[in-house]
Amino acid sequence: MTHFPHLLKPLDLGFTQIKNRVLMGSMHTGLEEEKDYTKLAAYFEERAKGGVGLIVTGGIAPNLLGSLSPFGAKLTNKKEMTKHSLLPQAVHPYGAKIVLQVLHGGRYSYHPFSVAPSRIKAPISPFTPWKLPNWGIELTIKHYGRCALLAQKAGYDGIEIMGSEGYLINQFLVSHTNKRQDQWGGSLENRMRFPLSIVREVREKVGTNFIIIFRLSMLDLIEEGSHWEEVVTLGKELEKAGVTIINTGIGWHEARIPTIATMVPRAGFSFVTKKIRDSLTVPLVCTNRINTPEVAENLLKENVADMVSMARPFLADPEFVKKAEENRSEEINTCIACNQACLDHVFQQKIASCLVNPKACHEKELETKPLVFKKKIAVIGSGPAGLAFALEASKRGHAVTLFEKDSQIGGQFNLAKKIPGKKEFYETLRYFTHSLKKNNVQIVLNKTIEEKDLNAWDFDHCILSTGIVPRTLSLQGINHEKVMSYIEALKFPEKVGQTVAIIGAGGIGFDVAEFLLHSKEDEKEDDFYKRWGINQNLDTPGGVVKKIATIPKRKIYLLQRKKGKLGEGLGKTTGWIHRQSLKMEKVHFLDQMEYRLIDNEGLHYSREGKDDLLAVDTIVICAGQLSQNELETSLQRKGIPYNKLGGAFKAGELDAKFAIDQATRLALKI
Ligand code: NAP
Ligand code: SF4
Repeated sequence: MTHFPHLLKPLDLGFTQIKNRVLMGSMHTGLEEEKDYTKLAAYFEERAKGGVGLIVTGGIAPNLLGSLSPFGAKLTNKKEMTKHSLLPQAVHPYGAKIVLQVLHGGRYSYHPFSVAPSRIKAPISPFTPWKLPNWGIELTIKHYGRCALLAQKAGYDGIEIMGSEGYLINQFLVSHTNKRQDQWGGSLENRMRFPLSIVREVREKVGTNFIIIFRLSMLDLIEEGSHWEEVVTLGKELEKAGVTIINTGIGWHEARIPTIATMVPRAGFSFVTKKIRDSLTVPLVCTNRINTPEVAENLLKENVADMVSMARPFLADPEFVKKAEENRSEEINTCIACNQACLDHVFQQKIASCLVNPKACHEKELETKPLVFKKKIAVIGSGPAGLAFALEASKRGHAVTLFEKDSQIGGQFNLAKKIPGKKEFYETLRYFTHSLKKNNVQIVLNKTIEEKDLNAWDFDHCILSTGIVPRTLSLQGINHEKVMSYIEALKFPEKVGQTVAIIGAGGIGFDVAEFLLHSKEDEKEDDFYKRWGINQNLDTPGGVVKKIATIPKRKIYLLQRKKGKLGEGLGKTTGWIHRQSLKMEKVHFLDQMEYRLIDNEGLHYSREGKDDLLAVDTIVICAGQLSQNELETSLQRKGIPYNKLGGAFKAGELDAKFAIDQATRLALKI
């Protein structure tokens, strides 16, 4: 019997059926901009094969001005239509449906010809948009209709009209960006005219038997955003205008409130969808931070929505639905909401992928090929690199033994999972534990491989994934009892004092600061909304309220030697959250530090030519890492073929994304 009856139940739309309640949400991958859609088709085909019911493509512009970048993807003519037809052809054989997301960027379009209801620059764009004249608005509405018709001819089952996240339609809806005094601005009726005209135009062009999803911004999370009553009124009017499904949109891109990052509680915005439930009659979709079939099933069981949308979870595991169908959810590679390989890549104009699944969007390039010679492989170290290699190599048929000196697998993952808001790493470890077992990887725990072990070695190949050791500093007083490594601080927080200086402001320095400010015990779900100023009663414009200041648990100084902003190297889409989060806890950020010495008084330093003292109880060293690969010379001496991976290969590049990618690529060709 299935564990997920609500999730796997078909959805009848009258003129068509969706085979389950899973919507693969729109996610820009960068493949949309490629000349030919073979790779994009392979990406969607893999997800359709994995059982998803309804796929929404990445955002495609209905005209040139609406494209997100100068050469951004659009659907405006027959040539582009032919290219798009590959996508429905790729997914239909598996019973999946696919709709094209039509997205006009408005003032978020990253080019000098961007347009908007009013000439007001977005805080996240360097370009000031041009004000759309009346005829320009009428033409844009026609372009939506043209795009929908081309999508229909290309074989899509429908379109999704992107009406949220602060793009053009959203810009018309709120007075924050719409200062017009003509029939497109002012009263709610006027502000709603643009989206409603688009829906009517599209419906007229495509007829009745074509899905129109509208992504409705239910919570703008900006000042002067929509009032809840306006959201409900628009939802009802959209139904009358002919939409088939309403999807939930949460937060404008310029909102300084996290909506999908890892610290957002799972299904943390479902309260918004739930609130509109009784006001609407068409099927409703719930979104944001839903990443397991259990969470999705629960939302449907509690009648919060008719479908659940997940985007990043399908990068992490294309077989998400298939594994749920077969009651194998413990084998799902869960999205950890890190954004490091998906959104961060897209913002850097790189093809998206996934930290936990580097094959995502690289399906053609990283295919699993059959083995020519089966090898007996020893993997030494079970951090991200060792785990990823062991799993992929064993899937190909190699006989793999994984040695770990600790009593559990995971390496640095075991430290990462302790950080507040990074609990999802437990899921990654759960996934590897089950998948390694299933693929017959022999795991030997509590075993440190030494040179003498290599004498009786009968492996054909060895993988050195022994990770890193934290860098120690040659600083006077470094052995003082006030000094701790970050590993000690994470393992024994009770030994850390009330005032702390953290030397090193990379990813680990930021994480350690978070950890020392919030212990797991005081992490409550409600705190997230209070800290970030989200009004769960939804009775203020945009759903924002004043952030509630907390009394910091410790006084922390975060330090770096270089000049400039701290945390510059953090993720593009999450770095601001980490910086803002620590600032809310009154962490002192200091750059240009010259560390002089540590003694009973604290940390002595010079800054801009002036000597000073931080009178702290504890100094935590987060000054990067060095590779740990002492076994290398022994392997060379014995002539044992080997590869180094992850931190053992290059400590400077230590991060799980690099480690898993490097390991997977090697395992696919060894
Ligand atoms: P890191 O990012 O290289 O940062 C090391 C810090 O130590 C820098 O602030 C550096 O700044 C300082 N430092 C380096 N050598 C020093 C020395 N000899 N004396 C004093 N300070 C020194 O390394 P990490 O923080 O250990 O992170 C490792 C990797 O994990 C990174 O690739 C990171 O991206 C990843 N990670 C990311 C996240 C995240 O994005 N949230 C979280 C955890 C880890 P100065 O040289 O200016 O002092
Ligand atoms: Fe999820 Fe991180 Fe993968 Fe993006 S990179 S899909 S956030 S696990």
